[in-house]
Amino acid sequence: MRGLSFRAPDCFERVRVVLLRPSHPGNVGAVARAMRVMGLRRLAVVAPRYPDVLSHPDAVAFASGAAAVLTEAQVFARTSDALESVTLAVAVSAQGREFGPVPHPPEALARQALDELAADPQAQVAFVFGPERTGLSIEDTLLCQALLAIPTDLEYGSLNLAQAVQVVCYGLATAARQSDAASPVAADSPMPYEGRVATHAAVEGLFAHLERSLVDIGFIDPRHPKKLMPRLRRLLSRSRMEVEEVDILRGICTQIDKLVQAGSREKT
Ligand code: SAH
Repeated sequence: MRGLSFRAPDCFERVRVVLLRPSHPGNVGAVARAMRVMGLRRLAVVAPRYPDVLSHPDAVAFASGAAAVLTEAQVFARTSDALESVTLAVAVSAQGREFGPVPHPPEALARQALDELAADPQAQVAFVFGPERTGLSIEDTLLCQALLAIPTDLEYGSLNLAQAVQVVCYGLATAARQSDAASPVAADSPMPYEGRVATHAAVEGLFAHLERSLVDIGFIDPRHPKKLMPRLRRLLSRSRMEVEEVDILRGICTQIDKLVQAGSREKT
């Protein structure tokens, strides 16, 4: 008998913790432990200060019984590589950003993540944490569709990286236990999506294409782009586009490209 222990749901396989540019191997080990005790195993590390951080003695020591999380973890060069197949990326940061998603507390985003995982067997969720010293950059925050902020004391709100991971993972585990106890609650909870939510890679591909097409038709001046793309990114990210919707918008861009090309052929 181990007190109030629980069995992690299968959908936790589709949840990953992403650490951006961590400096301290001990923190990475402590993150592995914070995840493992809550039944989460998928860890991704982006551009760590020590390339061999997963086998660094401090990481192994701090991971304690969660060494397997480290050995199975993946290292990526860029944030977008770690998010490629992800359908819901949650930035974890105390700071909101202009044009970024509005902050929500851990329990609200844990609920949303579990709902999306239940609604679509191909959904994948990432919780993205920033570097110890600088926190999440604006660029990295804007790659995410949601923002999780841990409510803290007004005068000091910066948690240690592994402690922030612990709070988020505990929130997920708590939400999973509650929906387990209340099942079959999933049946009458609204299905938020009819189709499959598009992956990070598909959405980023659309933003890049849209920007090119808008430049081509003269709507964006590349020398003075103003805040157009961040605004469009926020608008479209809010709607959590589905696979088919991304395809439609790319189709519109492709049609724009064709007309622009035809127009420039006519001129020559
Ligand atoms: N000096 C940095 C803090 C980084 S702490 C700053 O002031 O932004 C490392 C990471 O832990 C952060 O990037 C974030 O992912 C997470 N974190 C720490 N405190 C948090 C809080 N109150 N809410 C959400 N995330 C937090």
